[in-house]
Amino acid sequence: MSEKVDRGRIEVNRDECKGCLLCVSVCPVHVIELDDGLNRQGYRPVRYAGAGCTGCGFCFYACPEPGAITVFRLVKSA
Ligand code: SF4
Ligand code: SF4
Repeated sequence: MSEKVDRGRIEVNRDECKGCLLCVSVCPVHVIELDDGLNRQGYRPVRYAGAGCTGCGFCFYACPEPGAITVFRLVKSA
C-alpha cells in the first residue's frame, strides 16, 4: 500500500492574518484551520493543518492580505 504524498504546503504569516476565514472556505481539501490564541493585531489567525495540501493556490488568491499565505508546490525531480 502506497502512502499518499502531499503535492504542496502552505505557510501562514500569523501576524499578517486577519482571521477572515476566506482561505478556509475555498480550500477544496479542508486543510486550513484556526490557530490557537491571537496574533499581535488581536486576530485569531489560521494555520496549515499539517497534511493534504494539493498546492492549488486557491487560498493564496482568496486571501485579501498580501503576505499572509505562501503556497509551495512540490515538484517531482526528474
Ligand atoms: S494551496 Fe489549495 S489545497 Fe493547499 S491549503 Fe491552499 S487551498 Fe488548500
Ligand atoms: S484569507 Fe488570509 S487573512 Fe483571511 S484567514 Fe486566511 S490567511 Fe488569514
